[in-house]
Amino acid sequence: MKLVFATHNKNKLAEVQKMLPKSIELLSLNDINCFDDIEETASTLEGNANIKATFIKNNYGFDCFADDTGLEVNTLNGEPGVYSARYAGKENDSEKNMQKLLNELKDKTDRSAQFRTAISLHLEGKHYLFEGICKGEILTSKQGEKGFGYDPIFKPEGFNSSFAQMTSEEKNSISHRGLAIKKLVSFLIENR
Ligand code: IMP
Repeated sequence: MKLVFATHNKNKLAEVQKMLPKSIELLSLNDINCFDDIEETASTLEGNANIKATFIKNNYGFDCFADDTGLEVNTLNGEPGVYSARYAGKENDSEKNMQKLLNELKDKTDRSAQFRTAISLHLEGKHYLFEGICKGEILTSKQGEKGFGYDPIFKPEGFNSSFAQMTSEEKNSISHRGLAIKKLVSFLIENR
């Protein structure tokens, strides 16, 4: 069975392919020659994941899954959430996004937050959703150089280091995206 993962990122694709039986062949957007700019206009992570998966199904005919992730900060009523990539402006500048969040939280005592990933899967005419959550807190300053996005200011619960101080294997084993992908993979293995 061929299944599209709505990403251009080869590393993400390889990571998931390793977890799947050979009977499920993952294809990236590059593999199906999809270079469309799919606008993520929904107000929820599930909505945006679904926009991407539905676009591929409708325009390219493949069964497909897509993910969307946001950082939800409790004292900010779940912001930046679905707007995490463009929190400080359209250009997805991680430095500016982190600075804005640190400013917003400078007088707050509650710094609890969670990363949440939603995955939307279109498979054989049916639609499924999977979710992965990683709880933690926003640090008062950046720590570590690894990773991307908000990693330097996010410390997962039960750990003394930020995501940016962890190896990618350590992070993947506890991360929102890792957990959502594990649920998807178990479902695919059980249902194929
Ligand atoms: P995406 O849906 O995976 O593209 O994520 C949207 C935005 O959320 C990214 O541009 C990052 O700013 C942030 N983000 C998503 N996943 C992570 C993560 O694992 N660590 C840090 N930031 C993340």
